[in-house]
Amino acid sequence: MTPLLSVQDLNAFYGQSHVLRGVTLHVNPGEVVSLIGRNGAGKTTTLKSVMGVLRSRTGQITFGGQDISRLPSNRVAAQGLAWVPEERAILSTLTVRENLELPPSRPGGWSTERIYDAFPVLRERGHHPGSKLSGGEQQMLAMVRVLRAGPKLLLLDEPSEGLAPVIVQRIGEIIDTLRQSGMAVLLVEQNLKFASRLADRHYVFVDGQIVDEVPREQVEARREDLLRYLSV
Ligand code: ATP
Repeated sequence: MTPLLSVQDLNAFYGQSHVLRGVTLHVNPGEVVSLIGRNGAGKTTTLKSVMGVLRSRTGQITFGGQDISRLPSNRVAAQGLAWVPEERAILSTLTVRENLELPPSRPGGWSTERIYDAFPVLRERGHHPGSKLSGGEQQMLAMVRVLRAGPKLLLLDEPSEGLAPVIVQRIGEIIDTLRQSGMAVLLVEQNLKFASRLADRHYVFVDGQIVDEVPREQVEARREDLLRYLSV
């Protein structure tokens, strides 16, 4: 199968600091893949590199067979990638609907009505200001507003971060819904329980390198190893 996203020998730098060292990974169409590892292991830097936000890097990144390594981030997004950063970036003075309609829509993207039908709580909250949303509602809004651009691959940075278990479960259901609609997901996580319920494969990051790859079928047998990778 031709991968949807392919990253070959990615090296990334913050100034003199060599942060990613030879990262090679892929995501197949419709697949959910997780990047797991401790704080500072390089997961977020990988997402930023793929999106073209971090430009100081070497290696090759292809999407749908096309080389996107040299494209600026707006053109990367136009190819069908959407990044949901950890910060969520919901504007507190705008309503839910205004937040939803802020990112540009593209042909083939979801309409506001389709988003409301799939996630009715956002319709109910449509006129509420962003400041009145719970953490879970903000995460939901951040994840689904990028659908207006009709992405083929979502890059999600720690969607479970800081949320209560019942809300984390709801975020997992949203990811299931997106997968069922045919979207692929590259998920950065430190919550192994959450990631292992969702992902088809896991890449393990340690100190800017991928040191292990674990398919869903092996997670149970290798749980101790995975927990060791994540423990501080
Ligand atoms: P986290 O969950 O903490 O974001 P991560 O695995 O996503 O962890 P990165 O954020 O990719 O890790 O960070 C990788 C390394 O790069 C860390 O050593 C971090 O301190 C460093 N780093 C991250 N952002 C910057 C920056 N803007 N300038 C300099 N160094 C940075």
